Amino acid sequence: MSAPPLPLLGQSLAALKDWAVEQGQPAYRGQQLHTWLYHKGIRSLQEVTVFPKAWREALQEYPVGRSQVVQRIESRDGTVKFLLQLADGELIETVGIPTARRLTVCVSSQVGCPMACNFCATGKMGYRRNLKLHEILDQVLTVQEDFGRRVSHVVFMGMGEPLLNRDTVVQAIRSLNQDIGIGQRHITLSTVGVPRQIPWLAQQDLQITLAVSLHAPNQELRQQLIPSAAHYPLDALIQDCRDYMLCSGRRISFEYTLLAGVNDLPIHARQLAHLLRQASQAGARLHVNLIPYNPIAEADYQRPHPTRVAEFVRLLEEHHVQVSVRQTRGLDSNAACGQLRGSFLRASPEPAPGRS
Ligand code: SF4
Repeated sequence: MSAPPLPLLGQSLAALKDWAVEQGQPAYRGQQLHTWLYHKGIRSLQEVTVFPKAWREALQEYPVGRSQVVQRIESRDGTVKFLLQLADGELIETVGIPTARRLTVCVSSQVGCPMACNFCATGKMGYRRNLKLHEILDQVLTVQEDFGRRVSHVVFMGMGEPLLNRDTVVQAIRSLNQDIGIGQRHITLSTVGVPRQIPWLAQQDLQITLAVSLHAPNQELRQQLIPSAAHYPLDALIQDCRDYMLCSGRRISFEYTLLAGVNDLPIHARQLAHLLRQASQAGARLHVNLIPYNPIAEADYQRPHPTRVAEFVRLLEEHHVQVSVRQTRGLDSNAACGQLRGSFLRASPEPAPGRS
């Protein structure tokens, strides 16, 4: 039995031209297909009205690689969360976050996640599989179509640890840039840290922003929150961050989720400032993004009071660390990653096809 054909989404312009020729068509049909795939957002080759009718009909079952939107939930602030069903029935989430000048997509890179961070709804569901290239690109096209405007920024901060699916994620970054037209500097890859992968990423000659999620200022607390951190001591992670910045010439954005009474005490702010100083070269600006926690049903953690957040900010600034506090967008719509999928599965009486 021959393998099913590769979905067209994710294929480069050159590959699509070759494909058209293999199909007995002139190469310019591949160019047309590239436009219809990446800019008109087709879901079936039937929709490519510039193709000869007989050829379109012969190819109507050919896989394009688009998912189905199973749920769409819009928050009061305009953020839209999508639950997408993949060809094998798996469910993933993606989020469109609009502002006046930007449209950002928060994409997933895996179905579930093996890192098991104990404050995260995705971490609670376990790992099912890595996403394929077309499944990552599809998320961006889905948001673009829904909002009727171009996506300007992409953040790999949805379900999954992107560096555990590194080759596909890097292919997706190149395709987002070359095929969809999103500047690499507008793409952020967020990781909690996987041994040996930050040095690997530094060699990939990308212009993206790397965001490293610390969530704790010492190894003991970090291991409690992120069990996988047991295999990647904080000292080694910080050394890799330092080397990454030296090698790539790019700054790292550090992320720190504030959990009430757990990692938001004054001593944690002082330890964090010390840690960030170790990560940076002398004289370099230090910057950390604080994210007040968005509580989930699956974990006991709480969001800190705004006065506690303000005190944390003040202490970091006192230690010459630049701080921003991320506004939680879409707080009213199962906003934390993994929550929408979890509530959908609990509410739906029938399992989706393909899920055990
Ligand atoms: S926070 Fe990120 S890395 Fe940790 S379990 Fe959730 S999705 Fe995975």
